[in-house]
Amino acid sequence: MNKNSRIITPPDDPITQKDRNAIVLSDCIFCKIIAGLAPATYIKETKNLIVIQDRYPQAPVHFLIIPKKHISDISAFTQQDSVIAGELLLMAQELSAMRPDTKQFKLESNNGSLWGQTVFHTHIHFLSGKIS
Ligand code: 5GP
Ligand code: ZN
Repeated sequence: MNKNSRIITPPDDPITQKDRNAIVLSDCIFCKIIAGLAPATYIKETKNLIVIQDRYPQAPVHFLIIPKKHISDISAFTQQDSVIAGELLLMAQELSAMRPDTKQFKLESNNGSLWGQTVFHTHIHFLSGKIS
């Protein structure tokens, strides 16, 4: 773990032991990170979202914007998730304003294994940084 690594604090709602057991059994790595059961390099956290460094970066800056709510992919969003859906994009804007080399960026979200999704807890890849 580098100096920025920390265990992300759980969401506002306290997590019971029963919830923890369910998360461990669910085998969702992002739920484990969100619940503080697995480490990640933390970039930002809000009420509904976390931003972490991708473990296998594909660009000089490669963050993952992840809703705390377990939603498998964008197809599974409902009307009730509209606030979260909006916040995902606004978070990208916030990240881009962080430093000069992230002003320009690309967002990517794989939906379904045919299109490369490997973690079935929806997330947006924020790709940026200097391209030589
Ligand atoms: P997908 O392939 O579903 O679009 O994206 C999943 C991303 O999660 C990949 O870019 C992969 O490198 C990243 N990833 C997988 N496991 C972990 C992990 O345990 N920690 C972090 N930080 N990233 C992970
Ligand atoms: Zn999950």
